Amino acid sequence: MRWINRYAELGPQFSVEALPSPVPKPQWVARNHGLCQEMGLPSDWLKHEEGLAVFSGNGLWDGMQSRASVYSGHQFGQWAGQLGDGRALCLGECQTSQGSFEIQLKGAGPTPFSRRGDGRAVLRSSIREYLCSEAMAGLGIPTTRALCLTTSPLPVAREEVETAAIVTRTAQSFLRFGHFEHFANLPEGQSHEALQQLADFCITQHMSTMPDFSANPYANLLHEVTQRTAHLMARWQAVGFCHGVMNTDNMSILGLTLDYGPFQFMDGFNPQHICNHSDHQGRYAYGRQPQVAYWNLFCFAQALMPLIEEQDLAMKALETFKSTFAQAWQSGFLAKLGLDHAEEQSQREADLALLNDLLQLMAQTHVDFTAFWRRLSHAAPESSAAHPAWQQVAELFIDQNTWHAWQSRYMRRLGQDATQQALHTMMQVNPKYVLRNHLAEAAIQQSKMGDHSEVETLFQLLQSPYAEHPEMSRYAELPPAWASDIEISCSS
Ligand code: AMP
Ligand code: MG
Repeated sequence: MRWINRYAELGPQFSVEALPSPVPKPQWVARNHGLCQEMGLPSDWLKHEEGLAVFSGNGLWDGMQSRASVYSGHQFGQWAGQLGDGRALCLGECQTSQGSFEIQLKGAGPTPFSRRGDGRAVLRSSIREYLCSEAMAGLGIPTTRALCLTTSPLPVAREEVETAAIVTRTAQSFLRFGHFEHFANLPEGQSHEALQQLADFCITQHMSTMPDFSANPYANLLHEVTQRTAHLMARWQAVGFCHGVMNTDNMSILGLTLDYGPFQFMDGFNPQHICNHSDHQGRYAYGRQPQVAYWNLFCFAQALMPLIEEQDLAMKALETFKSTFAQAWQSGFLAKLGLDHAEEQSQREADLALLNDLLQLMAQTHVDFTAFWRRLSHAAPESSAAHPAWQQVAELFIDQNTWHAWQSRYMRRLGQDATQQALHTMMQVNPKYVLRNHLAEAAIQQSKMGDHSEVETLFQLLQSPYAEHPEMSRYAELPPAWASDIEISCSS
């Protein structure tokens, strides 16, 4: 294996050496053999004892250099100053026939950026990260990936004492908005050159194919990150994904879903839904995510200003968020309804009104988001409202009258010119299976007892969330009553 670390070459201002801290008696919890193959990595990495040692922080292979990078960021709207990889270690980038991948351990012990933290992660949150990264990939949504998950009996103190775990995650790059904010906020004299070095690195190494938005390369970078972020937000909203901690240090420059903490796939649809128990103000509520992403992009733009220089140009790049997001959101949700893009303006407006009325209706009684869209995908091709598939949708609504009124409008619309293709597509955009909190919770409870089979079952299922898997239908059922009592906080 050829190991490189391009980011390390930028110098000690950007990242520092930090070795993983060994753990006693490591064990595999989960291994992603498919990803291993997809990335062109040696298949025995996830089989032998040596692999287990490396992916639990008990050894390094020749060529690896373990490093932590520095970043800063805005947390919950406030400037938080220096943060950095407090419990993530980059072991380097491996170069394979499939490309270059950064390999990171999360939870492998303290780094110079751990502040008061222990550098560890607990089994519960690591299972959630492992499963959700792969669930997102299964949904086709840009994300960091998870190669494997190991655990150790090492006690980790949170509200209670818990078991340690380490996720090995991979991405082309883990660069965050916060990396740029860090260098932009260094004292004058230290800032400009480093910021430019970082931006040039990002452009040449990771964004070399981005389109030209202007003659200014840094405005191009802002434009590209804005575009990717807008598309990512549209994808999240369309599957009911709440990130939970959209601080600027958790925002990927590459537009990947990054840092899985108190995330949730919404059960009952509620635009005000807050999945993070520590988010008392609802800053990161589901319906606010696009707005927050824009706010975060604004911070990123501010960081780039010394390089872009022209404020108008930065604003122009940033402003593309609104139209790109709106377009991506609309076509994403119209596809969920089985409607093609209407060329005629008045039809387009009528379709959007139909969609917005539906969302309002769903929000009134918190209709289950995933179940609704999947059931609708089965019903839409049926032209009789008495068909059992339509009954199944109706069952989700308390107010039958308003539902039936909407249904009639929708069926009329489908009757006009719905295409088979668009109806078929509904099954590929409305997943049957998502990683609901209670499913993750059940797997976590079993794993804590030493049985990791439920993690594996969910992992396998969520690889193809749009497929029927009739034998697994219990995983698509409405959540049990206790699901709403699950409290997921920042503690991880
Ligand atoms: P997060 O809210 O998980 O995105 O983390 C915010 C910052 O806190 C990042 O710099 C993390 O590296 C750091 N951090 C979180 N938990 C720990 C921990 N247990 N030990 C050290 N640093 C941590
Ligand atoms: Mg983070």
